[in-house]
Amino acid sequence: MARYRDSDCKLCRREGVKLFLKGDRCFGSKCALEKRTDPPGAPGQRRVKPTDYALQLREKQKMKRIYGVLESQFRKYFYMAERQKGITGENLLRLLEQRLDNVVHRLGFASSRAEARQLVRHGHFLVNGRRVNIPSLLLEVGDTVQAREGSSRELLPIKAALEGAKKRALPPWLEMDIANLKGMVRALPTRDEIAIPVQEQMVVSLYSK
Ligand code: SF4
Repeated sequence: MARYRDSDCKLCRREGVKLFLKGDRCFGSKCALEKRTDPPGAPGQRRVKPTDYALQLREKQKMKRIYGVLESQFRKYFYMAERQKGITGENLLRLLEQRLDNVVHRLGFASSRAEARQLVRHGHFLVNGRRVNIPSLLLEVGDTVQAREGSSRELLPIKAALEGAKKRALPPWLEMDIANLKGMVRALPTRDEIAIPVQEQMVVSLYSK
């Protein structure tokens, strides 16, 4: 399946909630959802009462879009989550949070996950001291993420994102040493530490049919 290339804001309008796909813009008055909340497409063609299947599908799409994951990758995470101990929906969210691009974004090195993905692909980060360019790498407790010395640290997107991140709280499962531009995974996140607007149990119901 090809990656989605249309407007990110249309995705938020489709889901009716902010998915925070465009960095700092999402927090200000320029957010498209502040001006227009109707879903994209011709009006008057939608079912008034969606089926259970439709609701579950929307939750799954929301989760995929927030983390920028394609269907085949998403299914892979679901099967991994199913095999882990605990609640499958929470395991799924935790796995998505463990992705390197998500951690780079959560640490404040990038204003969005899409930006984080690009920075990682271009090799601007070290994981445990080694250069890594795989955005889907799953980090574990104790792993460190650091902006590479030299030109990587001078990149405007990283500098701007770190400025923006100062206004937001760091998730409690991560820690950040701003002086050395180095973050660490202190623990894996619990459900209440993952602030995203999805009902993961509906995604589990969808895939369990
Ligand atoms: Fe969604 Fe961000 Fe666009 Fe607002 S600015 S509609 S939150 S992507």
